[in-house]
Amino acid sequence: MKIICIGRNYKEHARELNNEQPSEPVIFLKPDSALLRNNDPFFIPDFSNEIHHEVELIVKIKRLGKNIQPKFAHKYFDEIGLGIDFTARDLQYKLKEKGLPWEKAKAFDSSAVISKYFIPKNELGDLNNLSFRLEKNGKKVQNGNSNEMIFSIEELICEVSKYFTLKIGDLIYTGTPSGVSKVAINDELVGYIGDRKMFEFKIK
Ligand code: ZN
Repeated sequence: MKIICIGRNYKEHARELNNEQPSEPVIFLKPDSALLRNNDPFFIPDFSNEIHHEVELIVKIKRLGKNIQPKFAHKYFDEIGLGIDFTARDLQYKLKEKGLPWEKAKAFDSSAVISKYFIPKNELGDLNNLSFRLEKNGKKVQNGNSNEMIFSIEELICEVSKYFTLKIGDLIYTGTPSGVSKVAINDELVGYIGDRKMFEFKIK
């Protein structure tokens, strides 16, 4: 399986990092070794002094597809989960400055937190109006709603599948709202979709 991530999909987040609003989705990949499951703790790697949390809705692909049109995109997923796209922001700035790929800053081990459970989309109602949030040490730090996405889930599936054949089990991290910040040892991160707790783990 592969992990496909979308960058700058929320206006306010693009603004907080001084990035332009994209005219097409920014896409990057993570390897399966990036997954951090089962509420396992995240260990801050020694190559970064600035690991940021980015809470994101995750779409799990259930069907093989390529060049999927937006109107058919709903047939390619049944479930939504929640995760974190951990980012070594200090390293990412260095790589961006040099015009180099982001992988070292984005695709390292344990950089893709994934909720233990996914929610069937028919239990979620309008997928273009899904609220989710991240709490750090009991305080809300990121608050998002899929209605603030620049590109909807359907549009993302269309765009991603122009370049990459989607396979069963592939994951699409759909981008983060504003409020990203640095994590520190002993922080506790808890993520919710609506009122459902999706993950809870510690930084070590
Ligand atoms: Zn992200």
